[in-house]
Amino acid sequence: MAEYLQPETIAEAAGMIAEHGGELAIMAGGTRAMQFLVPYMPYIMGLRRLGLERVEKSDGEWSLGAAATLTQIQKEVPIAALRDAARQIGAVAIQNVATIGGNLFSHAPYGDAATVLLALDARVSIADGGGERSLSLGDFYADGVDSGALVTGIQFAEPKGEAVYLKCGRKRFNATTVITVAVHVEMDGGNVRAARIALGGASPHPMRCTAAEQALGGGALDAAVIEKAAAAASAASAPASDATASEWYRRRMVGVYVQKALSQLA
Ligand SMILES: Cc1cc2nc3c(=O)[nH]c(=O)nc-3n(C[C@H](O)[C@H](O)[C@H](O)COP(=O)(O)OP(=O)(O)OC[C@H]3O[C@@H](n4cnc5c(N)ncnc54)[C@H](O)[C@@H]3O)c2cc1C
Repeated sequence: MAEYLQPETIAEAAGMIAEHGGELAIMAGGTRAMQFLVPYMPYIMGLRRLGLERVEKSDGEWSLGAAATLTQIQKEVPIAALRDAARQIGAVAIQNVATIGGNLFSHAPYGDAATVLLALDARVSIADGGGERSLSLGDFYADGVDSGALVTGIQFAEPKGEAVYLKCGRKRFNATTVITVAVHVEMDGGNVRAARIALGGASPHPMRCTAAEQALGGGALDAAVIEKAAAAASAASAPASDATASEWYRRRMVGVYVQKALSQLA
């Protein structure tokens, strides 16, 4: 039977991570951990007493506690793309306990909210035996998410441009993810000033697609440019096949959904 640890401070949690190393599993909402970690690990560390549920905005900067639930995100963060992603993760019973921090760790094709956070250029704060630090979400994925560190929070600036999130599933509600697309575009007059395009389900973790961003150039967001970006996204993706969709279908849908998302902003 696993021992359930409940730290009351970040320092205490970091100490537990340092002491138990690979024998300790972090559990937030438990929607994945209860099935895939809890039965197999000698130590489970819960986050309930750490006060990581806060959602705040100050000086144009959002700060989400890692243990904020997906229901909280829908109610407290009025950014349509992020709200849309949270609203489409599982059913309401899942959203009431699943956390935004836990979503960063969901294996492909999941990580729907994390895909939006990549498009919003989010940073994550993490703590482990070495102390606390902050890094971009892109670097967090590049470094590998299996370090055992505790994610304490997520920060991003209020979007300057427009953001769109689209999910491709086999049905309209409560659908397993085929792929997801999140796009943030800032326009200057009729021209693209800056763009971030993120894909979920297109690689083992959510990814920024710089090839598609570059294909947009700095000109108008017209049909030809959108088609080029969609083709670049499709070519850059490396999805897996599973019971929901084949690698071929996912790659096709990446192109189709990048095109749809950008067309909404044109
Ligand atoms: C029926 C069902 C449907 C789902 N549908 C979707 C979907 O459509 N889209 C989608 O993206 N996901 C989906 N999921 C996956 C998952 O529930 C969510 O991604 C959820 O956000 C995970 O959060 P959690 O708090 O429950 O994480 P947990 O289950 O508690 O943990 C998941 C993993 O994250 C790690 N972890 C959690 N929090 C932290 C932290 N703060 N620091 C370090 N490590 C941490 C855990 O150690 C574990 O490895 C679904 C799950 C179920 C059961």
